[in-house]
Amino acid sequence: MDSKKTYEEVIAWTKQIAVIGDVIGHLHWDQRVNMPPKGITGRSEQLAFLEGLSHRKLTEPEMVAKVNELSEVADRLDDDARVNIREIKRDVDQATKVPTALVEEISRHTSLSNAAWVEARQKNDFNHFAPFLEKMIDLNKQKAAALGFADKPYDGMLDQFEPFATEAKVKALLDDLRERLVPFFHKILAAQPYDVSWLTGRVYPTDKQREFGLDVIREIGFDFEGGRQDISAHPFTVGTKGDVRVTTRFNESDLRQSLFAMIHEAGHALYEQGMPDEHLGTPLGQSVSLGVHESQSRFWENIVGRSRPFWQHFYPQLQKTFPEQLGSVELDDFYRAVNTVAPSLIRVEADEVTYNLHVVLRFEIERAFVAGEVKVTDLPELWNAKVKHYLDIDVPDNAAGVLQDVHWSEGFMGYFPTYTIGNLYSAQLRDKMIDDLGDFDGLLAKGEFAPILDWLRSNVHAHGKRYHADELIERITGAKPSAEPFMNYLAEKYGPLYKL
Ligand code: ZN
Repeated sequence: MDSKKTYEEVIAWTKQIAVIGDVIGHLHWDQRVNMPPKGITGRSEQLAFLEGLSHRKLTEPEMVAKVNELSEVADRLDDDARVNIREIKRDVDQATKVPTALVEEISRHTSLSNAAWVEARQKNDFNHFAPFLEKMIDLNKQKAAALGFADKPYDGMLDQFEPFATEAKVKALLDDLRERLVPFFHKILAAQPYDVSWLTGRVYPTDKQREFGLDVIREIGFDFEGGRQDISAHPFTVGTKGDVRVTTRFNESDLRQSLFAMIHEAGHALYEQGMPDEHLGTPLGQSVSLGVHESQSRFWENIVGRSRPFWQHFYPQLQKTFPEQLGSVELDDFYRAVNTVAPSLIRVEADEVTYNLHVVLRFEIERAFVAGEVKVTDLPELWNAKVKHYLDIDVPDNAAGVLQDVHWSEGFMGYFPTYTIGNLYSAQLRDKMIDDLGDFDGLLAKGEFAPILDWLRSNVHAHGKRYHADELIERITGAKPSAEPFMNYLAEKYGPLYKL
């Protein structure tokens, strides 16, 4: 075998599969941003066809044989080629284990189930969604069984989003976090609450909100020549370098919602826009995991976007945008208003302290559901009980409870923990960045975001999938993933805010 020539063939084929992935991404974007309701039937067929095509391509016997041959002589390949072959082989191995018919059925069911969820949430009718969710979990169990898993089906589901994560590992991390976070949250609950009715009692026209938000993401480094920003029911990011698409949604009486969603999604986009050009379409030009992706969005949204120095820089411009609403409001009041901690029903609107309790309860529920310990009809009650337990509030209806998130409707069981994993990583990265850059707060206050983005580019983005998530974090920070840096960050920030 001429390994150089074979490698080039494998890379060309990999890039074709990445092209199909890009098309699928843009169809998903269109479905959520532009598509008329009756498009759903056709769109679900289009997506099922492309998913099937991608799967058949990835399992072409001739190419699978070439990947396996290269994998056997990996020690003769250079470093870059070795990483690409390692990751391509992992994809091929997984794809060859799942029958094409099952891939297509999952794709078709995903579109229908997502549409059922939208309707169920609008009508506050969990029973409308329940049979779709039940079938979804069944299909995903079949997929996990086909893939094989370390110990439990849930391991196989987690591995789809956070490669090499297991239920046991994630449970250890989240249990440790929960043990520290619950008492910390209770200390804040016992402190004097901060009243934000002055902020939410005013109207902020959405066109002005959008204009300001676009300025912010442009300044932190979002490349509008290689991306765009739109509106959807649930903010998201799709696309790869050259065309990365982010969305947000607006609330006229609370500008925090769209603003932080925009910064969050821009954080995801900056990761994609930071991929090395020479490796695009191959694993070395792709993100490591959802946890690492989320570490980037959380870093920009919370560690940067909710910091006082960030608002030292941007607040005068925000006041100019909303002179009647904010002209006479002090910076410190605004800073407090974007960092209030309070129990809430909706995960995506939660503050950075309680957010992780929303994730913990979802993690506990989906693990029990996948393990068959609870039935689909038990989910609303279990949900409400956990919200009461962790957040001490009553859930008024299922739309604000078990039906609030899109993920389960799309078969994303094992996805939620990656949000909190991302929060933990982001705090670890922050500590190291401060060591390396020195006056982090000074940079933010001056609006000098380039050194911060450059640090993320060279330490995280440039590597693509070269290292697995745990390995990447340990290489950068010198420490294994843990809850401690995140808890230290919270204590440092919220101690003064709540006089703890
Ligand atoms: Zn995100």
